[in-house]
Amino acid sequence: MLENERYQCPCCGEPVEAVLDLSAGDQQYIEDCPVCCRPLVFNLYTDGTQWSLDVRSENE
Ligand SMILES: [Zn+2]
Repeated sequence: MLENERYQCPCCGEPVEAVLDLSAGDQQYIEDCPVCCRPLVFNLYTDGTQWSLDVRSENE
């Protein structure tokens, strides 16, 4: 199950949309911001239905 989630990049402050795969459970992964190209750490917590997403810059 895929969900779209909008977040604000912690580096450049631009609004970005992420695609979340809720079927894989809790995940941590790194993806580059499409605006400023800096690596962002995504922490996704999900039970398959509800989710919360935490995005931070890799340097924090
Ligand atoms: Zn950015």
